[in-house]
Amino acid sequence: MKYIINTLGCKVNQYETQAMETVLKAHGHTPALEGEKADAVIVNTCAVTAESGRKSRQLIRRLRDENPDALVAVCGCYSQIDPKEAEELGAKVIFGAADRMKFVEAIEKAAATGEGEENIDEPFKRRVLEKLPAGAVAGRTRAMLKIQDGCVNFCTYCIIPYTRGRLRSLPMDEAVKETERIRDEGYKELVLTGIEVASYGVDLPGKPDLADVICAVAQVSGDMRIRLGSLEPTVITEDFCRKIAATGKLCRHFHLSLQSGCDRTLKNMNRKYDRAGFYNAVELLRKHFPGCALTCDLITGFPGETDEDQKETLEFIERCGFSQMHIFPYSRRPGTPADKMPNQCSNAVKSARSHEAQQVANKMHEEFLKAGVGQVLPVLFETPEGEGYTGHSDTYVMVWAKGENLRGRILNVLIKAVDGDRLLGEIV
Ligand code: SF4
Repeated sequence: MKYIINTLGCKVNQYETQAMETVLKAHGHTPALEGEKADAVIVNTCAVTAESGRKSRQLIRRLRDENPDALVAVCGCYSQIDPKEAEELGAKVIFGAADRMKFVEAIEKAAATGEGEENIDEPFKRRVLEKLPAGAVAGRTRAMLKIQDGCVNFCTYCIIPYTRGRLRSLPMDEAVKETERIRDEGYKELVLTGIEVASYGVDLPGKPDLADVICAVAQVSGDMRIRLGSLEPTVITEDFCRKIAATGKLCRHFHLSLQSGCDRTLKNMNRKYDRAGFYNAVELLRKHFPGCALTCDLITGFPGETDEDQKETLEFIERCGFSQMHIFPYSRRPGTPADKMPNQCSNAVKSARSHEAQQVANKMHEEFLKAGVGQVLPVLFETPEGEGYTGHSDTYVMVWAKGENLRGRILNVLIKAVDGDRLLGEIV
């Protein structure tokens, strides 16, 4: 079977797609080449915002129209909450955000027999984390390991708990085994990811926590460095930082989910911390990981947010000094409490506030790059370019250095200059 597989959304969705593709290839199926008609088009959808729902529909429609004889198979968070829409778009195999391996089997069966299948489960009835092979997204030098799924934080703007369901964690011994396998495949970086990794272990016997699994993975990672996916600031404690810093394996980059810099808005979002708590997390990370990069997500124009609240947010993000920010204008998501809240902001207000925040973020990003000059950064080289290679530093900045055969190697680079959105340096 010749297939096309496309993914929308988060690192976990990308991880699950790489796992499904690993199995498809192992079963002898091959990706359709550019311009080649496919026998099956597979879309792993996202529903985090109304916009990602629209993009999911658009992608299904486009691939269907470009491959009129192909079987259409859809899975992910969007089809989890709206399987009917997927069916109306011509999908014959429709799954939700779970049972990825069964989804692959159903595609193979439908391709062979023409018999479709719809399998939408109850997210809150899921008990165990589906074991999927860890691996790299095609062609990359870093591998991902999904250690957790589900979320029960119920932030008022978010649909994810209703698609990803209850908390499930990968048992520690399995996380260790997968790490050893990935290490032996020669990868030099492992990204630990999940939907809400701060809740790792709450469902496991003995309730190991996120620091425990990081330390267990670090013990067997060899010369592979460890990067963490997005973190809820509530997990950042003195004890957590001390334990993971002691491994000496962590990339000094922490992506924190901030969402707002105003306590009143954080409360309306049902976030589990306030400005003081978040800032304490910032200070702890800087204490235990000097020179670390802190990045974050921010939502602007949340219902009820005033100009005064926006000012507080701008002042707060500047005080935190993020090296990069992902800024999203609030997007109404049907099925969430925030969608029904009064005082919805206009699109003009949302984009004006995003623009303001982006100005602050750009300034902080430039300052972070400038502060890198003169430092020695460990860089994982990935892509040849001219007389050298580019790669990511542990602080998640793109770095170019002169050299040959650097791909897949972590080398120390003395930073000499800023070059637009990246750094230039010499291997030392
Ligand atoms: S923590 Fe909040 S924003 Fe993140 S997935 Fe859970 S409910 Fe959604």
